[in-house]
Amino acid sequence: MGRKQIQKKFAIGFKEALLPPKLEALLASRFEKHFAAACSKNVVPDWKALLAFLRTCQHHYAMITLKTLLNSWCTSSRYNDNSADSCIFGCSHAKDDISHYSSCPHLWKISYLNSRTSFPDWTEQRLLFVEPSLERLEALVIAFTAYHAVKLGHPELRLQATRSHDFDGILALLRHVAQACAIKCGIGRVRFPRATALRVLDPPPSADEVDPHRAQAAAVEASVDDRPFCEPECNDLPTGAHHASCSQAVLTSTRLECHMSV
Ligand SMILES: [Zn+2]
Repeated sequence: MGRKQIQKKFAIGFKEALLPPKLEALLASRFEKHFAAACSKNVVPDWKALLAFLRTCQHHYAMITLKTLLNSWCTSSRYNDNSADSCIFGCSHAKDDISHYSSCPHLWKISYLNSRTSFPDWTEQRLLFVEPSLERLEALVIAFTAYHAVKLGHPELRLQATRSHDFDGILALLRHVAQACAIKCGIGRVRFPRATALRVLDPPPSADEVDPHRAQAAAVEASVDDRPFCEPECNDLPTGAHHASCSQAVLTSTRLECHMSV
């Protein structure tokens, strides 16, 4: 064997050793290591179907999904650091690792509430291993964004909660971050049938009405009051009224502007 052939053989060997395995093989490996125990028995993810679904979605959303399924969250277990000894949302005896966050009740309850989608029973559905859908993908985007906002943006509040074993402040922060993410990304807005019907069906204000704009505004405000989604933040106010920080206040003002411009 000549010198060039030997060099070529070594180059091919190094290349194969340095390149990662195919994406599907990597996903299967991470599934077995981090998620299989939290999923139902005999679940076999259809990677080809999942990747085909992700190709139809926003790139940012697809990347969040891959980062989740490949264990790329900034957890303490992944980085081998001690920035969080346990679940940052207060689950007792749960580690700050991706295996726990795949089924953390605090994180997923808030995420699905803000995506306005029915909560799936199984971890394999929440992580899109089976029956992937846009609604579940959006809930995953909220969960990913909210976790990293709390984990990386508020270390002092997390430390205080861990020391006092009082996670009310952390959970309130989680709710606000999840709401902000949903509003910023437009998640959940398409599922406001009453607001859509109002713009189409309501007649324009007549000139005979004493104060048409005020009456119209009151009708809009009453119709978009989704009180279950903002409790307990706004339950000290009358129906239809929200605190300025509430997502309903933002949505209401947006719709009022749309409606008044019709
Ligand atoms: Zn947890």
